Amino acid sequence: MHRSRFTKIVATLGPASATTERLRTLFEAGADVFRLNFSHGQHEDHRKRVQQLRALEKEYKHPIAILMDLQGPKLRLGTFAKGPMELKKGQRLRFDMDPAPGTAKRIPLLHPEIFKAAKPDGLLLIDDGKVRLRIVEHDAETIDTVVEVAGPISDRKGVNLPNLVLPMSPMTPKDHKDLVFGLSLGVDWVALSFVQHANDIAELKKLVAGRAAVMAKLEKPQAIEHLDEIIEQSDGIMVARGDLGVEMPPEAVPPLQKRILAACRVAGRPAIVATQMLDSMVHSPTPTRAEVSDVATAVYDGTDAVMLSAESASGDYPVEAVTIMDRILKSVEGDPLYRRLMDASRREPEATTADAISAAARQCAHTLSAAAIVTYTNTGSTTLRAARERPDVRILCLTPNHDTARRMTLTWGVLPVQTEDAHNFADMVQRAVRIARQQGIAQEGERLVVTAGVPFGTPGATNILRIAYV
Ligand code: PGA
Ligand code: MN
Repeated sequence: MHRSRFTKIVATLGPASATTERLRTLFEAGADVFRLNFSHGQHEDHRKRVQQLRALEKEYKHPIAILMDLQGPKLRLGTFAKGPMELKKGQRLRFDMDPAPGTAKRIPLLHPEIFKAAKPDGLLLIDDGKVRLRIVEHDAETIDTVVEVAGPISDRKGVNLPNLVLPMSPMTPKDHKDLVFGLSLGVDWVALSFVQHANDIAELKKLVAGRAAVMAKLEKPQAIEHLDEIIEQSDGIMVARGDLGVEMPPEAVPPLQKRILAACRVAGRPAIVATQMLDSMVHSPTPTRAEVSDVATAVYDGTDAVMLSAESASGDYPVEAVTIMDRILKSVEGDPLYRRLMDASRREPEATTADAISAAARQCAHTLSAAAIVTYTNTGSTTLRAARERPDVRILCLTPNHDTARRMTLTWGVLPVQTEDAHNFADMVQRAVRIARQQGIAQEGERLVVTAGVPFGTPGATNILRIAYV
């Protein structure tokens, strides 16, 4: 199973992608990473998906990353006595902490933090920002608002208060339970929603204790204020444009996408661009031109991966969505401009052995028109440094560590394969050549650029570079 592209595809799972046959078609169509969204579904559903994916992985002998997405402190309305309610512009509306079902006069909002942090003139947004209310007055138990943009509201709709720093813990009791469950299933990545500080990630990392890689979802303005520290703390980043575009004006999102991706490139952390990428495909077999252009832009911006949400989780055309995404990625990657952009955005290597070797590997592969770069790695850190170079060939990541192989499927250009550590120089070369041929990325007469660490078998810094003939 080998894919001839650099950029990866993340597919969110849900009712539209629950059968083994459907998972197989999604994988064959090009999904590299599967996201379990813990905002939806029961634990048993997620358990079943993990079993199905692990079976696929065995069958195809190809590592698959499973990304669990924790809901985080998502704010929601309570419920309503008489079903959905239509709000009118100029109408006054009160929120309080009484759990009794809402009426035309008052609505339950069971988050005490909001009442503490509320400010007069602040905005309260409902249902992805579709309905907009302005706070006029508030005290410790009530918030009075006036409707600025009207619309329907109903049970448990999401609430956003842009630019309010809420003194909330980054993980709810539900997140704690979900995390324990997800780790018991052996997920490879854990993503945390609504991260505000680097500390939120540090806390999650303590709980995860190395059992999975940790991803920060950037969807709050506060996260942007602490961008570099958050990236530094995280193993990966998601540009979570859905909530980000509610918490901030939508026109702020494209420049932020570019800024976040550039910062991830500097730090050498894999990044995902997420949400509404092919949104119209939830109900249509073909995307809009604007959506195709949006996916392409993320690729030109140098992202590691692009993500499908409702398109693959609950849409009518999940496989078509992956297929079209795959075609867009290949189209951009085949454009000479893409190559020029990747080269022009290269960053200086840091003053480390691993970076010196990675930069040299990129240069050698280019000069010799080598078939691939091969990295021997334990934790995957050397492979990440090689990917940071955005070389013009793919990176075969050879690792004895099964978890590393799975995690690395998210990273730009990386084809991970689990294998023993090299025992000596001859073994290092032979093994690299054999696996590169098996995987179909190198042919007889071609060259490979191999990086590894000596002494062999001891995890540590990469310190050698070798050119191998196939
Ligand atoms: P969600 O996160 O799909 O879990 O809301 C992604 C986003 O907000 O873009
Ligand atoms: Mn979100």
